[in-house]
Amino acid sequence: MNMNVHEYQAKQLFAKEGIPVPQGKVCRSVEEALNIYAELGSKQVVVKAQVHAGGRGKAGGVRVVDNKNMLTDFVKQMIGSQLVTYQNAPEGQPVHQVLLEEPCQISSELYLSVVLDRSSQTVIFMASSEGGVDIETVAESTPEKIFKFSVDPLVGVMPFQCREMAFLLGLEGKQIKQFTHIVTKLYKLFTEKDLSMIEVNPLVIDASGDLVCLDGKINIDNNAMYRQPQIREYHDPSQENELENRARSFDLSYIALNGISAVWSMELDLQWLLWI
Ligand code: ADP
Ligand code: MG
Repeated sequence: MNMNVHEYQAKQLFAKEGIPVPQGKVCRSVEEALNIYAELGSKQVVVKAQVHAGGRGKAGGVRVVDNKNMLTDFVKQMIGSQLVTYQNAPEGQPVHQVLLEEPCQISSELYLSVVLDRSSQTVIFMASSEGGVDIETVAESTPEKIFKFSVDPLVGVMPFQCREMAFLLGLEGKQIKQFTHIVTKLYKLFTEKDLSMIEVNPLVIDASGDLVCLDGKINIDNNAMYRQPQIREYHDPSQENELENRARSFDLSYIALNGISAVWSMELDLQWLLWI
């Protein structure tokens, strides 16, 4: 079984490793949101509902706001609601927090993920220049646009592997070094925190040509949780299925089959990509 964390938590872990993310802060109320808005000091901010599922953009859970009124309206609308996306159960998941972030001027959206290949027990990086959209769709229609390499656990990520992938993605100049940095640090995070999946979709090129992680999803194996106190603190039972929660409290692994829970599905979704 896997546990998920929220986007803002994934981004905290990224930032600690020096992986570039937009500046932002999470909050639980309109009042807090208005304070953060003042702190961020930019007229435009991006408000992002925090639930353990992707597809929030399409589901209306991500919005750019231009002023305090728009901010107040959207935060009121989101907090306390159930957000239904194509990735979660029909009843959706409750929004208790929103992330307020500086807007990024996106020039293009890429895809990057790291996943443990359970069959070969190796760590695989996957990337595509077709980011922002659902990666399963890319896999179905243009599988040749997904690039992969596996990491030798004895030597770790090799710079040439990053450079090769960067070229395939069409990156150039400073972006190649930035990509190598991001991949190397993601691998460090992946191994140190016993993760089973990290997905950055989209990894964007901004207006100045720099790479920034605009989204972050992380899965961790429950069996490793005892030695990851920091990630244990990130646990948010409100995002999980009630029966799974009860099973967890009895140390059982229960998988809800009706409206398969996001906890279970995200990493498995990527497992089949390893086969194409
Ligand atoms: P999800 O994957 O759940 O839909 P994302 O975090 O990927 O959520 O956001 C959806 C889309 O919203 C992104 O593909 C991007 O186009 C836009 N977006 C997200 N964060 C920002 C930001 N800080 N600045 C500008 N656009 C953003
Ligand atoms: Mg995303």
